[in-house]
Amino acid sequence: MAYRLATLTIAGSLLFGCGGEKVQTSEKTYDLAIMNGRVMDPETGLDAVRNVGVLNGEIVSISQQPIKGAKVIDAAGLVVAPGFIDMHAHDHSDFTHRLHAQDGVTSALELESGVFPVDKWYGSRIGGSTINFGASVSHGLVRAIAFGVMKEAELTGDTSQDENVAARQIGWQNQNTTLEQRAQMDALIHKGLKYGAVGVGYHLAYTPGADHEEMLHFYEFSAKEKVPNFVHYRSIGQVTPLEGAREIIDGAEKTGAAIHAVHVNSSGLWQTREVLELLEGGQKRGIDVSTEVYPYTGAHANLHSPIASKETLARFKLDYSDLQLVSTGERLTEKTYDYYKEHDASGELIAHVMKQENIDLAVEHPITSIGSDGGAYVDGKGHPRGAGTFSRIFRQYVRERQTLSLMDAVKKVSYMPAKRLENFAPAMKRRGRIQEGAIADITIFNANEIADQATFADGALPSKGIAYVIVNGQAVVSDYKFVEGVKPGQPIYGNKAEQP
Ligand SMILES: [Zn+2]
Repeated sequence: MAYRLATLTIAGSLLFGCGGEKVQTSEKTYDLAIMNGRVMDPETGLDAVRNVGVLNGEIVSISQQPIKGAKVIDAAGLVVAPGFIDMHAHDHSDFTHRLHAQDGVTSALELESGVFPVDKWYGSRIGGSTINFGASVSHGLVRAIAFGVMKEAELTGDTSQDENVAARQIGWQNQNTTLEQRAQMDALIHKGLKYGAVGVGYHLAYTPGADHEEMLHFYEFSAKEKVPNFVHYRSIGQVTPLEGAREIIDGAEKTGAAIHAVHVNSSGLWQTREVLELLEGGQKRGIDVSTEVYPYTGAHANLHSPIASKETLARFKLDYSDLQLVSTGERLTEKTYDYYKEHDASGELIAHVMKQENIDLAVEHPITSIGSDGGAYVDGKGHPRGAGTFSRIFRQYVRERQTLSLMDAVKKVSYMPAKRLENFAPAMKRRGRIQEGAIADITIFNANEIADQATFADGALPSKGIAYVIVNGQAVVSDYKFVEGVKPGQPIYGNKAEQP
């Protein structure tokens, strides 16, 4: 659906001459005129050279006529696409947002793990964010409160810090909830939704005690509330990937809940194809399920987490050399595994557990959108997906493998996430599109040059080939360079928000 603003008339004011005939007066000067770019809009299929006029943070004119702007971007030879939307972004520091922006991302949302307290998380970012931001309510933190291992008043709103505190309390993760605890969690989730959270996020690898019965409770709750669920479904150490995905389908089918299964690549592993078929089959039967992928064979892990224990390695037939230590970049041996478990403070790992053919299959599959799963960088080191995910899609799949058309790639990084979220986050109805009436979140890039540069050895190298990134009408990347100190990012609130 295209959005037209009532204010559109100011863009080209019509005056009546003395004879009553219409006379077109001199053109309106827009805040920004993006000239002669190849405008691509996945929703309408527009793929043509146009001039785009931006006024007050909105796209108000798309035309073949010359237009004037207080600022002018010559986009000849460049693609003018909707700003990229990352539904899976864990870290919202300035450092990481800068890398996201340089990768073309205009909105980044923490939906998998979620946050709590929601008001603290949003409140600390308003007015100080390069790109748009949003989050779900954290099922894990709310659950920790219900078990009494965390106190709501003591939570900082810095989710990774709070999660670490909760994770150190052993036991509650594996226990089942009582009806009373679920009722308490319902109330806390309600509170988070009221403060603007977009749905509920579940990381079942960390809370295996949340059994199917508990999940059905929250799926029922969310279906009633008409809010979505973002689920890192049960997997490693609990069930096979396909069984984990079946639980998602079963839950959505029984309750009518909307469920987004995060990172189908690292959750699907050797069963990625079967999981994709299952989810696609569910969609065809009218079940509200969706999924996403990040384009890397390495998952994030941590030496200090039970998921990277020797028992898990043995169970999944992984070798020590499949683990790469982020701080030094080296592949581990049994000896260095033991050593760094004692001596590496961050313990950050990249676990090389996926096959390239499964990543390709997932990226090229029609039901997947792209989400980075990017996390925090420690001393500038971390998984390259936080810096390179979106540009990598264009380099690897549009240019090199030629398995995605340019329009399909644009669709997977912008329109599909916006479409997935729009019923639950009203601000997404006007994002992910280059249309009159859309919000001016725009990524302008050279299709022949856009490329990721971050690697497993150097995960924080910014992407290249992206000329301009416009967030709510303001450039945060200009002439291929990051613009310091500009903070136009807006909060993305959910449909239950009472005070946006
Ligand atoms: Zn995950």
